Amino acid sequence: MNFIQTRGCESNKQSSVPFSEAILSPIASFGGLYVPEFLPNLGEEFLTKHLNSNYKELAYDMLKKFEIDIDDEVIKKALDLYDKFDDKNNPVPVVKLQENLYVSELYHGPTRAFKDMALQPFGVVLSSIAQARDENYLILAATSGDTGPAALETFKNSKNIKVACLYPNGGTSDVQRLQMVTEDASNLKVIGINGVFDDAQSALKLLLASDEFKVSLKKHNTLLSAANSVNFGRIIFQIIYHIHSYLELVRQNGINLGEKVYLNVPSGNFGNALGGYYALKMGLPVEKIIISSNENNVLTRLINVGKYDIRDSDVVSTTSPAMDILKSSNVERILFDMFGSERTKELMNDLEVNNFYELTPRELVKLQNSFDADFCNGNEGKKYIKETFEKHGYLMDPHTATCMKSFNTCSNPNIKTIAYSTAEWTKFSPVIANALTGEVDTEDINALVSISKEASLEIPETIKELFNKEIVHNVIIEKEDISKEILKFL
Ligand SMILES: *Cc1c(COP(=O)(O)O)cnc(C)c1O
Repeated sequence: MNFIQTRGCESNKQSSVPFSEAILSPIASFGGLYVPEFLPNLGEEFLTKHLNSNYKELAYDMLKKFEIDIDDEVIKKALDLYDKFDDKNNPVPVVKLQENLYVSELYHGPTRAFKDMALQPFGVVLSSIAQARDENYLILAATSGDTGPAALETFKNSKNIKVACLYPNGGTSDVQRLQMVTEDASNLKVIGINGVFDDAQSALKLLLASDEFKVSLKKHNTLLSAANSVNFGRIIFQIIYHIHSYLELVRQNGINLGEKVYLNVPSGNFGNALGGYYALKMGLPVEKIIISSNENNVLTRLINVGKYDIRDSDVVSTTSPAMDILKSSNVERILFDMFGSERTKELMNDLEVNNFYELTPRELVKLQNSFDADFCNGNEGKKYIKETFEKHGYLMDPHTATCMKSFNTCSNPNIKTIAYSTAEWTKFSPVIANALTGEVDTEDINALVSISKEASLEIPETIKELFNKEIVHNVIIEKEDISKEILKFL
């Protein structure tokens, strides 16, 4: 299958490209993104067949449906990385919280957040293509805290790959920062930026589109790619776990095959939700995808009133920082799927020029056919964390907690919900400790200890040892100096 572009194609560019090309240079012409030419249909047969498969078998067959130009051996090697997750037989456990609410846990990989679901296999695929082509790549990653550690982990010591990882200084938890700045390998560079995540992501998009930067890289015999979810190579691995979670509900006798469910997704850049939408389009029985946000509630307003409006908005810092985003990149892929490339180009231009676009009433109806949305503020989130722990003995992180609000306000209780848990408690411990005990301590190390006592949970070794590791990256710079710093590294 080939990949086409969300904003249409400039006449001097190739109108469609194979998967390998789409992931090596993820920004298409006119600044658009790559999307599959069509979505394969799974059909009930596929679901029935995979009721008894394990995660890797399901993943392999799903990927084959896309007919991507990646060798079988590479796909298998990539999927083998799921063996490193907590339970080799099931990397994504689905836990029943109450009669109509299940939690799909996406955080059982090496860096304890859902970014591992896609970045682990993506790393193998990208580095294999680079080696096969005998090319060297610089992978840019902008992170609000979880993509960075996952990208560094997957590309550590990868052949033909160097990584430059940009994080907002002060915008991540201690654990997230330590996961990055202690990652020691000669092909990795971690850079703190004085700014917020949107600054890091904008800088990344500018560099990806800059011919001047590409020419400078060429002098180092290096090409440029990105590990953010603008890259379809990540999205493709994020369709799988939605199908898996659905099948888990069938296996647990929570639903009958064919029965519709809600997918409730804590959303920032919309990669996770887009994976759910593609699963729906491919035939997974989904009633709606419910988009959960924090106080940065642009997506809630888009879905409820049809306006993407960031004219007077600044990002606010919240208790769920991985969702502190105003320009949610993957919404563009939804616009394309629903309204086509001409309209997408128009809307995205409006957003770039005016920080605003508005859907027509008819377009809004179409969007609301597949999506619903609400947002949850930090205090409500902490209340849900405490309540869920006291009622069900279940500990959730502040991102997952945003789903509890929309579960109450958006869903019909007769339809079962799969809510996605995107991070382990260890990554956002100060907020959780505050929710459980009221303590106000900003140090992760103390919060981890107090939660582990309160909830009788072990702190995982990989988290404990972070606090004793040597810090190997200590560069903090202004965003204007990013390209200079990266070229110095090369
Ligand atoms: C990245 C992230 C999100 C947001 O996911 P998107 O795919 O960007 O919408 C939510 N929660 C956590 C913990 C994350 O790391």
